[in-house]
Amino acid sequence: MSDENTPTCSAKGCRSAAVWVLAWNNPKIHTPERRKTWTACEEHREHLSQFLGVRGFLKDVVPLADWESAGSSGSAQGPV
Ligand SMILES: [Zn+2]
Repeated sequence: MSDENTPTCSAKGCRSAAVWVLAWNNPKIHTPERRKTWTACEEHREHLSQFLGVRGFLKDVVPLADWESAGSSGSAQGPV
């Protein structure tokens, strides 16, 4: 059982608490304003950023605390 109030890192096999949010978009399958999010611990932020970056998907990397305070709490649909 995982605690939904404590996001964990999206890296495969990593169970560390997330401290970063990576916002990304795949233009082939998502509309331009759509944002998918991955969460990352300090260790995997660069790895995951590069994974998305080389594909041209990465839009933003923000601290988890800032992301949550930006008004998207309770929804994965983004602040629209
Ligand atoms: Zn991690």
